[in-house]
Amino acid sequence: MMGRKLVSRERTEVINLEQFVPQDHLLRAIDRYLDLTQFREHLKPFYSHLGRPSVDPELIIRMLIVGYCYGIRSERRLCEEVHLNLAYRWFCHLGIHDRVPDHSTFSKTRHGRFRDSDAFRDLFDSVLRRCIGEGMVGGEGFATDASVIKADAQRQRAVPGTDHIDWNGRLTRPVKEYLAALNAANPAAPPKYVSLTDPAASWTATAGPAFFAYSTNYLVDVKAGIIVDVEPSPSGHAAEAQATRTMIDRVEQRLEIKPHRLIGDTSYGSASMLGWLVEYKKIAPHVPVWDKSTRLDGTFAAADFVWEADADQYRCPQGQPLRKEWRQFKTPRSHITKDATVLYHSRQSDCKHCSLKPRCCPNTPTRKIARSIHEDARDVARVIMQTPQYWQSRRERKKVEMLFAHLKRILRLDRLRLRGPSGAHDEFLLAATAQNLRRLAKQLYGSVVRLAHPAT
Ligand code: SF4
Repeated sequence: MMGRKLVSRERTEVINLEQFVPQDHLLRAIDRYLDLTQFREHLKPFYSHLGRPSVDPELIIRMLIVGYCYGIRSERRLCEEVHLNLAYRWFCHLGIHDRVPDHSTFSKTRHGRFRDSDAFRDLFDSVLRRCIGEGMVGGEGFATDASVIKADAQRQRAVPGTDHIDWNGRLTRPVKEYLAALNAANPAAPPKYVSLTDPAASWTATAGPAFFAYSTNYLVDVKAGIIVDVEPSPSGHAAEAQATRTMIDRVEQRLEIKPHRLIGDTSYGSASMLGWLVEYKKIAPHVPVWDKSTRLDGTFAAADFVWEADADQYRCPQGQPLRKEWRQFKTPRSHITKDATVLYHSRQSDCKHCSLKPRCCPNTPTRKIARSIHEDARDVARVIMQTPQYWQSRRERKKVEMLFAHLKRILRLDRLRLRGPSGAHDEFLLAATAQNLRRLAKQLYGSVVRLAHPAT
């Protein structure tokens, strides 16, 4: 018999939202670990004591968490989704008849008070502290990596960086941020292309046609894959390595955590980065050394020469020394080049009749070897590369890559919606907060749910 179960749409019903949200719903788990008391206190000085009450900042932050946890990238759509979805309403403490804030009010608060107060950083820190409190951060090993995220800037609106651009009449927020940063940094060379809509975005060609982008840099604790810091940067090895230094310093200052080892790919294996890690921070670099000294023409590489630290010289395969100076100078010289290396060279009298010269320096009278001023740190990294712990670290580095895959595929953050460095800062921080919350909820609350419902 064909059933019929259509009730009047006009019927008035009384419902209890608490009953509609399943016990093992992700938002229920996140709600359990989200404490916004401190967040409210942090924002208090940015609100007046007088006038009409504003939209509740806690409501906005809860809506943003819903948006980032479920990959709802548009603010207008997020408002519609919260209006229609009972679980989202429950999480945002909205009753069935409560109005969802208009998307324009929502954006204004987000770009105004939240940005002025650095509220997203405060939120990220409070979630991270909860993760630490739950024992999910070991603090022994951190892994770092960067992922390129497209900026909200069309490549068709690119102009060559060498062109004179009249910014008058285009002074939008991202342009003002760019001009302020430009004045502060005073870069030596202009970028290849500049976007007129988001000039701080980098012109990047990682794969396929070039585009404008920012990099999101993660510092991840390897114990449970919790993100301990996030930093936006221009795309490029040097900027990403600098972002990692910023994050390590910030975590040490804010949380008093300094790892024993840092895991990274070749981008972090430059001599200056290894020197900073080993000599300045005393952190073991589980990072491949960036080495360009190998030769492809069959001649001796730098590795074929033996370093004699006590004598401050190399010994060539023929047993002759290579020194940085062969005579005393009246005024002592550092011999450090602008590439932060010291040149060691052999004596012409030794090489002139050497039988190995065709394999050593066939086109020059003497052989030179450039030694980085951070070569000792590079040697430390080379030794670590031979250990089983290094291979364990390489496996652990996958945790950062998985977080980036999750960021792009599940949270759908493959293109920014906000412009300028502050827009990238806000989006990356919120996405990392959402990832930590999801992990915290799934790891801790998930086990509670499974115990409560062993059949599921
Ligand atoms: S050419 Fe000079 S530096 Fe090279 S192996 Fe012979 S003596 Fe040594």
